[in-house]
This record gives sequence, structure tokens and C-alpha cells, in this order.
Amino acid sequence: MTTTFNEPSATPLALLLLGREADPQSERGVDCPGDLPPASDPDLVARARAAKEQLGDRVFILGHHYQRDEVIQFADVTGDSFKLARDAESRPQAEYIVFCGVHFMAESADILTTDRQQVVLPDLAAGCSMADMATAEQVAECWDVLTDAGVADTVVPVAYMNSSADIKAFTGRHGGTICTSSNAKRALEWAFEQGEKVLFLPDQHLGRNTAVRDMGLSLDDCVVYNPHKPNGGLTADQIRDAKMILWRGHCSVHGRFNLDSVNEVRERIPGVTVLVHPECKHEVVEAADMVGSTEYIIKALDAAEPGSKWAVGTELNLVRRLAKAHPDKEIVFLDRTVCFCSTMNRIDLPHLVWALEELVAGRVPNVITVDPDTAKYAKAALDQMLALP
Ligand code: SF4
Repeated sequence: MTTTFNEPSATPLALLLLGREADPQSERGVDCPGDLPPASDPDLVARARAAKEQLGDRVFILGHHYQRDEVIQFADVTGDSFKLARDAESRPQAEYIVFCGVHFMAESADILTTDRQQVVLPDLAAGCSMADMATAEQVAECWDVLTDAGVADTVVPVAYMNSSADIKAFTGRHGGTICTSSNAKRALEWAFEQGEKVLFLPDQHLGRNTAVRDMGLSLDDCVVYNPHKPNGGLTADQIRDAKMILWRGHCSVHGRFNLDSVNEVRERIPGVTVLVHPECKHEVVEAADMVGSTEYIIKALDAAEPGSKWAVGTELNLVRRLAKAHPDKEIVFLDRTVCFCSTMNRIDLPHLVWALEELVAGRVPNVITVDPDTAKYAKAALDQMLALP
């Protein structure tokens, strides 16, 4: 059986292009400092290939699963954010790590690689809206609120990999750990052995889904800290009674799926298995048949029976690629409308060609560096994750 992938319809919202001016609160919306080749240049593929060949082992290109095909074809390795950071660490001979992903991933790669290596993000506008939802100042203020409520000593911070280096460093300074969507359960088990409460940053959905589905906590054990409200919108009693203090952040891509998407696809495709990422809302995760990280989703579809039917709730570039790789299975996108990660999509072939040709010319563009003090504490939190039982 061979199936074709039906493209969801485009919506202007999902394809929103980010502005070009700098926003001091975000790494997004930053001018490209160079002359980008036009996207219509028919030689882009040949130019990328030639530049990569000229650089040889001096360059190592990492491609996140959510990147466009036009970029992924030049990646030396593909993976999720944590796997890519580890891959970068394992290639000390490469002078330049070109990270086709978003800003926080490039920061993690810089933290884990040697000082001799430089991490390049082809477009500085490739940020992550979720990572932007927790700033260092906001999290420091939250810690003051927890201190005033008399609970800070009992709270262990757990930060999702999808956070800025500043937030990872905060976590390291306060004896916490980083987690990924694959090891969030182990991270929470460890954290609850160290303290009585967890401050989960910045994705409320991953925190809630893991606490309720995997740890046996109830929704009432969780409160949401809203950094835009005084005291996070919580009373001292609510903070004292909670076990999970969830930061009010979410992924703008996975947060788009809702219960209607699940019900609609079940009606449209009888016998379909709904497979979603744990960054989706709790109601979506509860209604799905299977839940897991990006790597889990890839493996589940690799192992699926020919002829089986799947509706997948994660980023569209990846779902489209998986549908193409498995023509013997029916793989559809969970939502009817387009759901790319617009910031991931900032890295396109013109930006990759520009970055590689700059390296060939002896100039290193868009270097991502984390200051040594931040890197030290962020690494402590990353190391704690690696030491999880
Ligand atoms: S998919 Fe979501 S979490 Fe991942 S980079 Fe995009 S906005 Fe951030």
C-alpha cells in the first residue's frame, strides 16, 4: 500500500514572518549581518555542497528534526536538541559547529564543546518562543516569591532543555537538573527525592503531563506560576500546598493541537492511532493513544506495521518527512492547518549557504557564546541530568 501525504492548509498565523528589527527581550527578529543569496538562486544546493566540501572536517553541521528538508540534506547528523548537543561534544576536531536549530540549542552546544570550537547559528532570528517565556529576571523574582512563602528551601528546579542558558544556570545554582522530553519522569523522581516541591521551567505542559501521567500526582497538586502577575498570580497558601509549581510557558507549535483535532481525526480515519508529543496540552495527551518525545515518535513509526494509520501531533516538517519515509503507512498531521515552528524555519538554504561561504572566506558569522559563569552553572545542571539514575 502506498499513501500520499495530504498537506494541511496554510494559515497566515502559522506562517507569520518575524520582524527584522532587534528586540532587546529576545534573540528573535535580528538583522542578518551579511548579503544573503536570493532564495531563487538555482545554484544554492551546489554552493552549499562546494562550501561544505572545502571546509571538510573543520565544519560539523547539526540538523534538528524540525528543520526544512532543504537544510537537513546538508546535516552530518540529525536529532533532537539534547542528542545534537552531545553530538557536537563528540566532534572536538571540528572548528566550527553549524547549528541548524534554534538559539537555546546552539547555546547548549557551546556549553558542551571546547573553547577552541565556535558554534554558528545561520540566522540569529532563529529563537524559541517557549524559551523566551522565562527570562532570568522573571525566574529570580519567582524565587523571591517562593522564599517569601517560606518554601524555597524545599523546592528543586527542573528546567526543560528548551530553555535559555540563563535558566539552565539558575537551575544549576539552585541544585536542580535539566530534563528532556525523554527523561522528564526520571528527572522528577530524582527531584522529589531531593526536595518536597518542583519548580518546572518553562513548559507547563511537559511538567503537568509528566507529573500527572507518570508520577501519579493530581491536577490539584499542580499550580501555574504566571510571571506577568504579582506573586505569579498565586497566594502563599497555594504555593505551600502545591507539589508542582509549573511555569506559565508553552510551545507555540505543540500548544496549537486541541481536543477537536483528536476527535476530528478519529472520525475521519477509523482505526487511526493518535501519537503526540508531551509538549501538547494535557487534554490532548489524555485523548491520544501514545505519547512520547521526538525520538520516540520516530522509533514508533519505524516499528509500525505496514498499512497502519497514524495521526501525529508534532512539528510539520518532521511529520511530512516521516510520511515520505514510510509510504507503506498512512501518516497524517494531527491538525488540519499548518503548524511549522516558524523560528526553526528561519534557517533556510540561503542562510546556510551564507554561513558556510563566510567560513570558507575566513570569517566566522553569528557565533553563539555563553559567558563562563553562566556556562559553569548551566553545565552543572546538564551534568546532573547525565547523572540521573
Ligand atoms: S517547536 Fe516549540 S519548543 Fe521547539 S523550537 Fe519551536 S517553539 Fe520552541
